[in-house]
Amino acid sequence: MSEQLLLDRIENNLLRLRLPRIGEILSEMLKTFEKQSRSHLSFLDALLEEEVATKEQSRVENALRISGLPFIKSLDEFDFAFQPGLDRQKVSSLFDLTFVRDKGNVLFLGPPGVGKTHLAVALAVKACQAGLSIYATTMEALIKKLKKDEESNRSVKGRAYYKSALVLIDEVGYTPITREECHLFFKFVAYRYEKASTIITSNKAFSDWSELFHDPIIVTAILDRLLHHSVIINIRGNSYRLKGKMGKEGFETRKPEG
Ligand code: ADP
Ligand code: MG
Repeated sequence: MSEQLLLDRIENNLLRLRLPRIGEILSEMLKTFEKQSRSHLSFLDALLEEEVATKEQSRVENALRISGLPFIKSLDEFDFAFQPGLDRQKVSSLFDLTFVRDKGNVLFLGPPGVGKTHLAVALAVKACQAGLSIYATTMEALIKKLKKDEESNRSVKGRAYYKSALVLIDEVGYTPITREECHLFFKFVAYRYEKASTIITSNKAFSDWSELFHDPIIVTAILDRLLHHSVIINIRGNSYRLKGKMGKEGFETRKPEG
């Protein structure tokens, strides 16, 4: 069989096997490896490595696109110098993702603009890159979904916010929720307890959660489960959004909140 016929057949089979990256690089690779007289084995290995890397990259891109994350940020982009009160070691160590494997939770607390969502997003991105399923939502959107599920009376087990290895619930405390919504949230937290990890960001201290959720007994039950296996990161510093906009040195002068 002529070389061209062989190449045509290979191209065809690569398409059928859904290995498009190999199809793209085959000819060039072939030339390079022939020139360098490298082994068949290393040739096959190089082709497969490229295909796997490309597939992996598109898996991550796709998962991030549908994750619901409000933006994409990394730990490297976080300026710890701006938040001197924050324990860098404690935050950094979360990024080994042990807490996800242990089905634990992470709670970021602090006033607006201190980087709660940034760090939560960075953790979710890291988990996604590590091959874990992620889902991100605001508390408000989650409550809407839980209510809809309750009304439709359908099984919720297949929902991404139930079954993802890591769920980020952003902005707990920005909008007050009713007693009924509080019960739905309790059911949600109880379902995921010791089964999968949740990251929460909140501008409210736990002591204010009772008021926020209306039902102190249920709040205790929610916090009990959330905090049992958890890391709490309190960020008490200044708002990054107001950086350079307040005070002489570019820092606000207001007192930090819980
Ligand atoms: P929060 O969720 O606490 O209200 P965000 O995480 O949304 O605050 O931060 C607001 C903006 O400021 C985001 O664009 C975030 O990336 C950025 N930001 C906050 N803190 C830092 C920081 N220490 N270093 C770099 N960027 C930061
Ligand atoms: Mg936020």
